[in-house]
Amino acid sequence: MTTRSAIKKSALLSRTAAIASEVAAVHAGDVDKRSRFPHETIDALRQAGLLSAAVPEAYGGAGAGMLELGAQCAALAQGCSSSGMVLAMHHIQVACMARHAQGSPFFERYMRESLVERQALVASITSENGTFGDTRSSICAVQIDGDRMSLEKDATTVSYGQHADAQLVTCRRTADAAASDQLLVLFDRDSYTLAQSGEWDTLGMRGTCSPGAKFSGHGSIEQIIPGSYADASAQTMVPYSHILWAALWSGIAADALGRAAAFVRAGARKNPGSVPPNAVQLARAQVELQAMRHNWESCAIEFDEMTAENDAAAREALNTMGWALRLNQLKIACSEMAPKLCHEALQIIGIMGYKNDSPFSVGRHYRDVLSAALMVSNGRIAAKNASMLLVFKDE
Ligand SMILES: Cc1cc2nc3c(=O)[nH]c(=O)nc-3n(C[C@H](O)[C@H](O)[C@H](O)COP(=O)(O)OP(=O)(O)OC[C@H]3O[C@@H](n4cnc5c(N)ncnc54)[C@H](O)[C@@H]3O)c2cc1C
Repeated sequence: MTTRSAIKKSALLSRTAAIASEVAAVHAGDVDKRSRFPHETIDALRQAGLLSAAVPEAYGGAGAGMLELGAQCAALAQGCSSSGMVLAMHHIQVACMARHAQGSPFFERYMRESLVERQALVASITSENGTFGDTRSSICAVQIDGDRMSLEKDATTVSYGQHADAQLVTCRRTADAAASDQLLVLFDRDSYTLAQSGEWDTLGMRGTCSPGAKFSGHGSIEQIIPGSYADASAQTMVPYSHILWAALWSGIAADALGRAAAFVRAGARKNPGSVPPNAVQLARAQVELQAMRHNWESCAIEFDEMTAENDAAAREALNTMGWALRLNQLKIACSEMAPKLCHEALQIIGIMGYKNDSPFSVGRHYRDVLSAALMVSNGRIAAKNASMLLVFKDE
């Protein structure tokens, strides 16, 4: 089991932290300004072999657990939030394949040859026009004809769709299946088209390049992840999303507070022997940052413990209401705390944090973390928790 202290010494983390400061942070301003894909950062991760961190060692990957992946996403987000989000979303898709398609010759080859050798980048299409942000329902359905299949989907939001090597898409099992009877299907770049149906001119997370798109793909039935998306969602997609997102939001908040700390220290140097008044605000904000970190780390450690064996007992534990509530609470807590901490950083720094051309600027951080509560909507998650809490009793 990987512990917190082992993670601090992890080569995966130190290589990612170097890319965060030497590449991601250098281009973050331009990525944000031009709403462009952070290709320098993703190329650097690819060259360092870090895109296959979540692939199990048996297929040539690093086999990193949730705690290590979370620390990696947080480190990258300190340099560039959009890059941290792209990496997190890629790991989420890889984990769905690694945990639900073992034993499938197609996916085992895909992990070895595409994810590890080619360092392919995988995007996600769960959103769909007409399902209103409910990832657990689809309108589109896969069409199966013998051993061939095809799928069309009208998606509202596809991050880095034009820059990815593959798309993992949710859909209904058949044209007459219920909206929640879903599957996950993988399409490699030469087996689909993605026609952009809007622009991505947003407040923040501009480098994720996530406009709407009309997807059309075809291929072999081997590309369908075995089992149901209901299981893959509860046991993998939701835990990886909520924990890795929370980790990267804590990375964004840490960088904003890091700028506040540098500003306070600069003030202290001007008046040796005195503690600047904003140092107390900083001390209070650090309390919240620590709580936020501990929140995602404790869920990550628990997930790694629960999944140490990929057996029926582990799958059952991941399907419980108590665990679902815990993950949803993590998501709501961290998505609300990260903007508050960026706001605190701005109050500590003042006008030098408000200016876009200042080394203490936290405008980009603030705008980027505002996406946290929307992706997936906190209102929708709180409504799900409210229904679960009507019947769930904590022991
Ligand atoms: C930066 C970013 C990147 C993204 N990347 C991708 C991607 O790569 N692929 C992808 O498929 N999607 C992506 N998405 C989309 C995302 O996953 C969600 O599908 C989308 O943000 C939800 O859209 P919505 O706000 O219209 O949805 P809704 O969930 O319908 O929410 C709309 C409004 O209704 C309210 N609401 C909804 N349900 C309830 C309820 N039950 N109770 C109370 N209030 C409720 C919400 O509070 C909200 O105000 C991305 C989103 C962002 C912000």
